Amino acid sequence: MPEAAQISDPIVGIDLGTTHSLVAFCDAAGPRILTNEAGARMLASAVRYRAGFAVEVGAEARRNAVEFPLDTVLSAKRLMGRSFDESKSMRSGFEFEVVEGTRGLAAISAGGAHVLPQEVAAVILSELRRTAELQLGCEVRRAVITVPAYFDDGQRQATRDAARLAGIDAVRIVNEPTAAALAYGIGRSGDAQTIAVYDFGGGTFDISILQVIPESVPGDGDLFRVIATAGDTQLGGDDLDHALAQQLLKDAGMASSKENVKIAAGARQALREFAESTKIALSQRESAQIDIDLGSEVRLQRTLSRVEFEALASPFIERTILACERALLDAGGIAIDRVILVGGSTRIPLVRKRVGEFFGLEPYTALDPDCVVALGAAAQASVLQGTRSDVLLLDVIPLSLGIETVGGAVAKLLTRNATIPARAKEMFSTSVDNQSHVQLHVLQGEREMVSDCRSLARFELRDIPPMPAGIPQIEVEFLVDANGVLHVTAGERRSGRRATVQVVPSFGLTNEEIERIEHESIVHARSDMHHHRVVDLAVNSTLDIKWIGDALLRTRDDLPSEYVDSLEALITRLKGFISLAHTSPHDVDANAFQQAKEELDRASVAMHEKSISKSLGSMSTSLSAPISTPNTESKT
Ligand code: ADP
Ligand code: MG
Repeated sequence: MPEAAQISDPIVGIDLGTTHSLVAFCDAAGPRILTNEAGARMLASAVRYRAGFAVEVGAEARRNAVEFPLDTVLSAKRLMGRSFDESKSMRSGFEFEVVEGTRGLAAISAGGAHVLPQEVAAVILSELRRTAELQLGCEVRRAVITVPAYFDDGQRQATRDAARLAGIDAVRIVNEPTAAALAYGIGRSGDAQTIAVYDFGGGTFDISILQVIPESVPGDGDLFRVIATAGDTQLGGDDLDHALAQQLLKDAGMASSKENVKIAAGARQALREFAESTKIALSQRESAQIDIDLGSEVRLQRTLSRVEFEALASPFIERTILACERALLDAGGIAIDRVILVGGSTRIPLVRKRVGEFFGLEPYTALDPDCVVALGAAAQASVLQGTRSDVLLLDVIPLSLGIETVGGAVAKLLTRNATIPARAKEMFSTSVDNQSHVQLHVLQGEREMVSDCRSLARFELRDIPPMPAGIPQIEVEFLVDANGVLHVTAGERRSGRRATVQVVPSFGLTNEEIERIEHESIVHARSDMHHHRVVDLAVNSTLDIKWIGDALLRTRDDLPSEYVDSLEALITRLKGFISLAHTSPHDVDANAFQQAKEELDRASVAMHEKSISKSLGSMSTSLSAPISTPNTESKT
């Protein structure tokens, strides 16, 4: 796309976060995060001041914070627009020194000078601006910047000032929960909805209840009314890291039988980092291996299970749930239609579970919780810029949605132009005996084969009990809700195993692309259909041959040899078609293939009858004994 050349005076979207900040941009292909030259999407909101040197910003500054705690400013957002007095009452202290600035405002003493929180924010914004300019290939002077819903006028003004210092005109300040809702396309349908945005980040927790105001202009920032907020500015993922680190230290103390484990600051930081990575690992896995050398001959080795971590995390998570309760109460107990998860800590499975339970709804997780606010800010920016292609604000499904089946074909569950909300279900099974997990591949497009469709998501249904191929009943359900979010659920009926995934199918799709896909599907309709038919024939013929082969093994001795020979000849012929279908499917004569399959099916009937009567015979002998016993008893 030659878009870089076409952009002039773009408006970017910025999530200026307490621990991480991001910049995003939205063009006709939808919003996307802009990455820095190292490919990183998130910029650590950390700035280190060094007398006589340039400031250091980002991950490097955060890492060095342990060594230079007095000169490194972390979480400056907490101090934005706050008075010095307010800063004193903040529960968690800052490692750096907070001093009284002009007009009684909170300022920071770092690197031998006094800086205001907005100056720190300006350093972060400048870095994001640089990233954006690098990616877009033009000057960036305007941005939509997000702030927490509870920010007062002073805090919002401080954010604007920070932008100005960074050479950015903050064309709009948008609430973070509003941006999250916009990223999900909520409000575009114009329906009245109530949305809960649950934002659990690194250092803060916010819950906001928003209401869509139906009569307002779609895409406008005033589309949402914040009807209640609650939260805790001192509660976040950092607390979980801390709790875990404490627990590990306690364990180490016991293990080493030393009464006082004294560890250096560096080791303490290492332990924190270790705790964080263990926490993150446990969002994915059931257990994590721990092996750390804490110095002073203290070495900690153990396995930590997710259940153990959950026991530690649970009190913090329950505090967020209490805040949700408060917010709901403030909102007058209004019914919630959607719950959106924002912030890295919402990747914790227990968080998802508890939020889902509390609201009685499956929360939205289709978008990366780290990026959702920045993406929404970019979406808002594109509306202000007037570039948003509104074709994607749809009340119909623009392209068919389906699932990959054996052989690389696509089974379509929802077809193009179905009105949303739309729901469809289909049953699938396994193709291999004792298959314990099934890969599900969600696809979008009009073509028949996976390779010609857009891949939307992959997920796995695990722990299916062992059963012969074709026996498990796997129900796949597609639901595209009123906001265009696709929820795919797969469940195995007998075992009750379930797995789900969410995606936003309209993401990254432009009107032109939809047209191109449609056009291609028409051009290739004939050959695609042929291909799909050949693949299906190959899959079914392979299964036939397997069954027939198995039955033939059992009955062979009871069958006339000419009959066995003729069956084997038919099998060989069909195998020829199958192998051609795998190597060059377009050269297969589908009608001849089908005929060969039918001939084998017909010819094998006699053998199947033999096979069935044989197994019935063996079954009846084993059944006859228990049946006859009670009969004789009742007669006596
Ligand atoms: P903020 O908005 O406050 O800047 P983020 O949304 O970036 O914060 O969230 C950062 C927090 O998310 C950190 O505490 C980090 O450890 C946590 N986090 C990130 N990924 C995961 C994960 N997979 N599991 C658990 N916690 C995670
Ligand atoms: Mg955040």
